[in-house]
Amino acid sequence: MITETLIASLTQKLGQEHVITDENELTYYSQDVFSEANKPLAVIRPGNKKELAESIGMVTEHDIAILPRGGGMSYTSGYLSNRQSVMVDMCRMTDIIEINLEDMYVTVEAGCRWVDLYEALKDKNVKTPMWGTLSGLKASIGGGASQNSVFFGSGQNGAMSDSIIGMEVVTSNGKIVTTGSGAIENGTPFFRHFGPDLTGLFTGDTGALGVKATLTLKLVPDRPEKRFVSFNFDDHSGMLKAIADVARENLASECFGFDPFLQQQRMKRESLAKDIKTLGKVIGSEKGFTSKLKSATEVVIAGRDYMKETSFSFHAVVSEMTDVQADKHLNRIREIANLHGGIEVANSIPKIIHAHPFVPLNNMIGPEGERWVPVHCLVPHSKAIDLFEAIEDYFGSKQDVMEKYKIEAGHLILNIGNSATLLEPVFFWPDELMEFHHRNVEEDVLERISGFEADEAAREVVVELRDGLLDVFADYGATHFQIGRTYRYSKNIKPETLDLITGIKNVIDPKGLMNPGSLGLG
Ligand SMILES: Cc1cc2nc3c(=O)[nH]c(=O)nc-3n(C[C@H](O)[C@H](O)[C@H](O)COP(=O)(O)OP(=O)(O)OC[C@H]3O[C@@H](n4cnc5c(N)ncnc54)[C@H](O)[C@@H]3O)c2cc1C
Repeated sequence: MITETLIASLTQKLGQEHVITDENELTYYSQDVFSEANKPLAVIRPGNKKELAESIGMVTEHDIAILPRGGGMSYTSGYLSNRQSVMVDMCRMTDIIEINLEDMYVTVEAGCRWVDLYEALKDKNVKTPMWGTLSGLKASIGGGASQNSVFFGSGQNGAMSDSIIGMEVVTSNGKIVTTGSGAIENGTPFFRHFGPDLTGLFTGDTGALGVKATLTLKLVPDRPEKRFVSFNFDDHSGMLKAIADVARENLASECFGFDPFLQQQRMKRESLAKDIKTLGKVIGSEKGFTSKLKSATEVVIAGRDYMKETSFSFHAVVSEMTDVQADKHLNRIREIANLHGGIEVANSIPKIIHAHPFVPLNNMIGPEGERWVPVHCLVPHSKAIDLFEAIEDYFGSKQDVMEKYKIEAGHLILNIGNSATLLEPVFFWPDELMEFHHRNVEEDVLERISGFEADEAAREVVVELRDGLLDVFADYGATHFQIGRTYRYSKNIKPETLDLITGIKNVIDPKGLMNPGSLGLG
């Protein structure tokens, strides 16, 4: 009865088409890339921050929980819960509100996708320092802030939270709280700091403290001079040392590596047709006919064959203001890679990734339609090699069960800013795809794969393996992004720190209705 009254009030406020109660739709919304939970009572799609705030206030007044959802492209149950809840889908709040080139900031609604911001800034010679995730065709900027996401620009500029100036956040009572200099009477959102860093409080919270309505990000000059370079390494330690040295000297906007297994998965999944299509974009995105032709030739000649026998592959993108600076960084990366045993190979991979950064999210399944889930951690460079070996030992100890269920794993590695190495083991296993995958992977890819029978036992083993890795990571004092309901934030932090964050949560969300369970709180 309470529910019916609430749904009726929400419908009156937002309009019938923006309050979803259809069972099939709710099934979709009860899944992320990896997991599923109970269906929410309804999914609401507010169109602006006033509607967002008022509808959140209405839901929590009925003691029903709120689950914030951006693009939905995560895999840590961040927006999934078995509690009675209403999900807030930010898909209608996508406006780019202000691009301020004089004061160097951009304000967006939280549902704005990375690809849209990229397109809007492309011809203005500016970027945000961290400028998107590989999932940015669908993932939102509000989701990125809540996950503290990384990738484009993260090599030199760190995680997404380092790019944010301020926000407007709706708390569980339906109030809109402003952080950063936008919170000052007569203030504009030009600067993050004025007293304690309240912007920081809401970054990486996976929605546990409030629903971000708008975000203001820094703008920096786009660095037009790009260089791309790739190396093969015989072993993990050479590659990890090279990534760490490139990070310490702040040489590359993106610097990442794959182990041989992940490299082969990449090669398998990409059709020749796609390479050619991407090649067209590489040509289109480079200035000057000679360099276009040269790049095209290199990429074609390199194809994917040169990677066949590869061991560990390392890729870096240099983004600088001038030719001289870019060449200097490129040459230094070459020195570092050579020092650690790298052999230079064609630079097709970083070039292709940069030419078209926000591609369809077909990588959320394996090349034959296997299920896919990554698990990551961040450690200081000094611990990265030992941790990599501990992960491999762990997989070695689980070899029997992994073979039994045909579970395979590879590694993605990158640096985040100059002090952290991110290690991301990625699992693949034969299992049935969910509605989520059917809606988010391109049709031609789905048509090409034969698919697999459901294998719940294998899925459970993957959950256990992921859990086992969390134990390994904890031994190394690792941190994590994307905490949601997966990473052990509340379990792994010191009691005094837990008291502080629990106290903050209780003040902001006294009834524990804002994404309960996210961060392990509420
Ligand atoms: C193929 C693929 C590639 C990926 N590549 C990357 C990558 O390069 N880097 C990376 O970091 N991650 C990556 N991811 C993971 C994920 O896509 C990103 O972390 C992304 O930032 C999630 O954004 P989203 O809008 O989809 O968030 P969602 O999945 O919708 O939500 C993520 C979390 O944020 C919360 N949330 C969302 N919006 C709001 C809001 N407005 N206010 C408060 N809380 C909110 C949710 O409750 C949830 O806890 C990838 C995923 C896939 C499938």
